[in-house]
Amino acid sequence: MRDFECRDGEMIIGGLSATEIADRYGTPVYVTDEEALRNNFRRIHKAFNKQMSTRIHYACKANSNMAILKILEQEGACIDAVSLGEVLTCLKVGYSPERIMYTGVNVSNEELEGLVEAGVHINLDSFSALRRLASISIDAPISFRVTPGIGSGHHEKVITGAKNSKFGVPIEDIVDAYREAMDLGFKPKGLHAHIGSGGLSVEPFLDLMEILLGVVSDLKDELGLKLEFLDMGGGIGIPYRPNEKPMDIEELATELTTMVKEESEVRTLAVEPGRYIVADSTVLLTRCVDVKRTSRKNFVGVDAGFNTLIRPAFYDSYHHVVIANKFGRACTERFDVVGPICESGDYLARDRVLPEPEEGDLIAVYDTGAYGFVMSSQYNSRPRCREVLVDKGEIALIRDKEDMDDIWRHQTIPARLLG
Ligand SMILES: *Cc1c(COP(=O)(O)O)cnc(C)c1O
Repeated sequence: MRDFECRDGEMIIGGLSATEIADRYGTPVYVTDEEALRNNFRRIHKAFNKQMSTRIHYACKANSNMAILKILEQEGACIDAVSLGEVLTCLKVGYSPERIMYTGVNVSNEELEGLVEAGVHINLDSFSALRRLASISIDAPISFRVTPGIGSGHHEKVITGAKNSKFGVPIEDIVDAYREAMDLGFKPKGLHAHIGSGGLSVEPFLDLMEILLGVVSDLKDELGLKLEFLDMGGGIGIPYRPNEKPMDIEELATELTTMVKEESEVRTLAVEPGRYIVADSTVLLTRCVDVKRTSRKNFVGVDAGFNTLIRPAFYDSYHHVVIANKFGRACTERFDVVGPICESGDYLARDRVLPEPEEGDLIAVYDTGAYGFVMSSQYNSRPRCREVLVDKGEIALIRDKEDMDDIWRHQTIPARLLG
């Protein structure tokens, strides 16, 4: 959780008051602070690269707004993409194909063809994908995603490395996968794994690295294959709750790079942080439209629901909330912060102490830069909201809000129903 400046009882984001931003752009609105975004990238880039050459592949599914992609492109980021759509967006923003690594699951032939045409690195997830890619092109740079048999994450839905996972090539088959790839004429470049998302401790990453280094040595012994890079995936968590401590990124970088340098000949590391880079760069501002007190519970009704931010409803995620125009004021009562979607699971926060809320107040939801806007929907026929970028007192629109035409655009009523 970031600390925000308070001026005259107002929360300040990137040099501007939350009220100013909301008055100008309406609510709900996602507000990204450019400086925070750049600092997050620089911190992790530096921690690894002062130890050994490490590519930071930003996992752009966390937030694929093109302005944010552009900022990270300027910072020297590489990309972890999980769809052809993400690949094409990153190419459009100005990333060269060499900076993009695609890691998909259950990849169609159509998608494989698009990736070969785009010229990006393809990280393969199965024997089926390997064989189907071979029939399209054997010149593509490839690696394999291995299922390491260990998982980590903030919720069962985001653990990807466990034995029963749909992701990756099972570890017992991984040498055979490389053997078959080489027999088919590929020159595999690296090895990849991603254990899950949102953990705050270093240990699972060290366990993962031990497993990857074991595979590296098997590949060398059994196939004479020397890999150029090792990719340890993403999943570095952030402290969403006030009492949580951030992961020690220096410790993570030092321990991992020492293992790689001491136990292998691999000279390039890759890391795929998504959440770590974007989560705390962004707050969601939403307006209180209704205050309801009942004998059992109190509710602050706001204009953003799980159509705008699904993480609380979907993963039971905690996001810190404050009243931005009563910033720092004493909290007096307990409330659930709930949205306009007609489902009882539609909440942003539960059981939070807040200063006396009133209709018209501005609620700030913290740490919404990762898996926030990108997971929003038009559910209940509500157009998606705006995104803005603030930087040292300046503000720019980076995505406009949708309107009803956006909801109707691709629908048709067959002519026979219109008679
Ligand atoms: C989602 C994903 C990431 C990023 O996860 P974070 O928890 O946002 O860091 C990295 N690599 C792959 C392959 C992913 O699917």
